[in-house]
Parts: sequence; structure tokens; C-alpha cells
Amino acid sequence: MVFANSYDVPSATGKGEVFVIPTDLLIGDMWVEGTRGRRIDIVNPSTGELLTSVADGGVADGLMAVDAAAMAASGWATTPPRTRATILMACFEAMKENAEWLAQIISLENGKALSDARGEVAYAAEFFRWYAEEAVRVNGEVAVAPGGGNRIVVQYQPIGIALLVTPWNFPAAMATRKIAPALAAGCTCILKPAEETPLTALAVAELMRRAGVPTGVVNVINTSAPGPVTSAILHDPRVRKLSFTGSTEIGRVLLREAADCIISSSMELGGNAPFIVLDDADLDAAIEGAMIAKMRNGGQACTAANRFYVQRGAYDAFVKRLVARMKAFRLGAGTAPDTECGAMINRAAIDKIDHLIADATARGARVLLGGKAVDGPGFFYPPSVIVDVHPDSLIVQEEVFGPVAVIMPFAEIEEVIRLANATEYGLSAYVYTEDLKRGLRISERLEYGMIGLNRGLVSDPAAPFGGVKQSGLGREGAHHGLLEFTEPRYIAVSCVRARKFVTPLRKSALP
Ligand code: NAP
Repeated sequence: MVFANSYDVPSATGKGEVFVIPTDLLIGDMWVEGTRGRRIDIVNPSTGELLTSVADGGVADGLMAVDAAAMAASGWATTPPRTRATILMACFEAMKENAEWLAQIISLENGKALSDARGEVAYAAEFFRWYAEEAVRVNGEVAVAPGGGNRIVVQYQPIGIALLVTPWNFPAAMATRKIAPALAAGCTCILKPAEETPLTALAVAELMRRAGVPTGVVNVINTSAPGPVTSAILHDPRVRKLSFTGSTEIGRVLLREAADCIISSSMELGGNAPFIVLDDADLDAAIEGAMIAKMRNGGQACTAANRFYVQRGAYDAFVKRLVARMKAFRLGAGTAPDTECGAMINRAAIDKIDHLIADATARGARVLLGGKAVDGPGFFYPPSVIVDVHPDSLIVQEEVFGPVAVIMPFAEIEEVIRLANATEYGLSAYVYTEDLKRGLRISERLEYGMIGLNRGLVSDPAAPFGGVKQSGLGREGAHHGLLEFTEPRYIAVSCVRARKFVTPLRKSALP
């Protein structure tokens, strides 16, 4: 297919093949340039150079996407679940077939290492497979009313048109984690990808179109004006669902918008994960887990280990070994084959990390590794380790979102549980101990939605992903993620025989 505007993704093999991504807005079955006639520049964070540009949608485009989603809504809602499942499975296959291309696109626009990007594509595709399998299992309930006689019939119906807003750090997985359950439930949707990384979403949307997703079921609006565009969409009464992944700050803004129209909202927000290592932990496993929890995506993950708490008996060995591993981690352009830690997303990300480290060192912290941004081109921060950190330091309170390990010792279990819970966030936490009984008891006292017990990675399409406290509302993944896009419909069924309602005079005439 020939697109009016497109970007030719160069192949990683250098053999001259290209993968063509449409770079406009997807509204219905059309790739359109948008009513504003403006473009958004997309920069490669590894070089600081311009990759391409995408259409910059406005309010009118957002509302046209709602029109398209509304036109498709009843057809998709009544499409047999088996057919929806087959289409979702075709999307899974399409992502798998094009996995290397998608990884290359992610790496180019996000800056992450190709190995991380490949991992993301595999994870992202799995949401299509998982929800293809779940689409045919949206079972209702039938119960006898407690008073007897009447029946309670509950069906899970598609909630309606959904607005999906995603961040830049996992441009494929955060999109499919929403689109797949929405489609499985029978909803149509409008995706608003992050301004820095729309190319991945556009590529996935085009693959979905080719895989047989009907016109209008998935629409994509890139925009440099996320506030006005999402507000207009949310104020359209046909839109019934908001699913957001991003910072807690913007989550609050969008919840206020959703409140105006009483729109069901799912929120996947920020984190401040503690990583707790007890004296009896298997240190090899703890270091491996720490490297995954800290260094996946260069630390730019909501589940990233933000604060390492290591019990005194294991502290010195853990610090020494983590510094050695972090030091050996290869920093470089995302698309370079041997890179282990890619670029940060932009200059602001680097400045924030520098600011957090300066604040910590001003309060007495010592930098054992890294601790200073690498000079350009590109936006690089080296793997860094800091110790002797005062608990009031900003780096302990806020998401670092970079390759910086903050390590603090502790003595008693009660103390570390108190420290771990002393944050407004509650997304993920990690515990390492060889005593599973103790590990489970600690996990149950951590105020987090997800706990990795002797595991540095909690994400799994088959598991409910999400946080408590200021880290979010609702869950993605698992069957829970599908139910977020449904609404229970209760049908009260009378099974009482007619004689109950006849007058006493005629009652005797009944059998
Ligand atoms: P962000 O600044 O909150 O942006 C997220 C999305 O919201 C982007 O598409 C952004 O568009 C849009 N947005 C920004 N301002 C908006 C507004 N006023 N109205 C409507 N939409 C608006 O977050 P980010 O920097 O992209 O991502 C990093 C954050 O996401 C971190 O806090 C991380 O922990 C969190 N995160 C959470 C999860 C989870 O599952 N819990 C997963 C991944 C990331 P623009 O790109 O145009 O600004």
C-alpha cells in the first residue's frame, strides 16, 4: 500500500530492505494528515537527530476518530467472540512475523537497546495471544436470588468506546496491553500514543489493519496538544472508558476530566519500587534480579527498582558485586548490536537524574559509579551507583527513571517494611530471601500491587498488572484486564409462578 506520508525504517542488517510505516493519523480506514496541517518531529535519542515527522492531530481529528469508533461500535460488539479471537490471533502472528522490524522502530524512536526492544515486542505480542484466548471466555453468572424464586442473570457487555493514552517507555507493550483486552471485550478504541514515540503505535496499527481488524475499531491520533484533544474526546458522551498509562501527575489531570462525564477509568501510574535483600538471600540470584529490575530499559520502567534495601550481613558483598556488574554494562546507541544500556528519552530525563543525584550528594550520599551525564550527541546516562543516601533525599522519594542504583542498609525486618511502605506509590516491590515462608509474610505486608519474590521481573500478560495507593486504579493483563472494558448487565428474572399474583378469591381455582 502507498501512503501519503510514511517513514522507511532502515533494516538492522544494512542490506537495504525497508519497512514502511504510515506517519499520519488513522481514522476509520484512512490514514489522514489531520485538520491542522501540522507535523511533530520524531528524534532518535541515541543521536539527537531527526528521524521523521508524524501528523499532529487536533481536537477536530480526535472527534472524527470518535465518529469512526462509534460507526464501528455495534458491529464489533456483536461480532462473535470466536471471530474477534481469530482476528486478535492474526494480530499476534503479524507482530511475531515483523518482530525484528518492530524492535528496530522502538529502538530508533525510544533509544532503548535492541535486546530490550526485542523483549518488549515479544511481551507486547503476547497480549494479542492472551486476549485472543480470553475473548471467548467472557462468561456471565446465573444465581438464585437469596429470597428464592427469582434468578439473577449477569452478562458482561462491552463498556463502549475507549480512549487509550500511553507513555513513551514501552511504546508497543503499553498500546497492546490496552488494545487487545478492549477488542476482546468488544469495544472500539482511539489510541493516543506518546509524542516522542508514535511510530511504534502507527506500525502496530497498520499491522492490525492488515491482520483483519475492521474499519474504525482501532483509530490512532498523534498530537502535540494532549490536554485539549483528550479532553474533547472524553467530553463526547459516546466515549465510556479511559485507560491511561503514564505519570501519577497526568493521571490525576485525566481523572478530573473523566469525572466530568463519569467515565470508567483505569490508571497505570508511577512507581517507587523497593528491592529488599535479606541476609539469607542467594546473592547470585539477587544480583541477577537486581540487574533486570534496575537496568531493563535503562531504568526507564514503572516497575524499576528505585531503592535497594540490603540487610547488613549481605550489604558489603551486594554493593561490591552490583557495582562490578553495572560497570561492565555496555552503554551505547540503542540499535548498536552490543549495546546493553541505551539512551534516555530526552534531555529533560538526563537533567532530572542529574538533579536527583546532586540533591542526594548535597545530603551526604557517595557516588561509587557514574553519577554524571555523558556529553552528547544523544542523551546518555551511565550506569550509576550511590550509597550513604539520606532517607529524605529526593532520589528516595521520587521515581529516578534512569540507570541509577540507590543502595541503603537495614538491620531489622520491621524497619525495612516500614521504609519500603513509606511512599505514596504502591506499584511493585521485590524481596529476596531463601526462606520462602518469611518472604511470603513480608510480601503480604508490603503495600504494593505486585511483588517479585526472588524474581526481578513481574510483568506477565497472564497476571494482573497494577498498583495501589497513588500508583493506579484497576488492572491490566489477565482476565482482570478484560473486565476493565466491560460493564455488568443484570437481568432480574422472575421465576415465581403466576398464582402468587392472583387475588385470594381466585386462588382456590388454581391447581
Ligand atoms: P506522562 O507524561 O504522564 O505521559 C503519558 C501520556 O499522557 C502521554 O501520551 C502524554 O502525551 C499524555 N499526556 C501528557 N499530558 C497530558 C494531558 N494534560 N492530558 C492528557 N494526556 C496527557 O508519562 P510519560 O513521561 O510518558 O511516562 C512515564 C511515566 O509513566 C512514569 O511515571 C512511569 O512510571 C509511568 N508508567 C507507568 C506504567 C504502569 O503500568 N503503571 C507503565 C509505564 C509507564 P505526550 O507524550 O504528548 O506528553
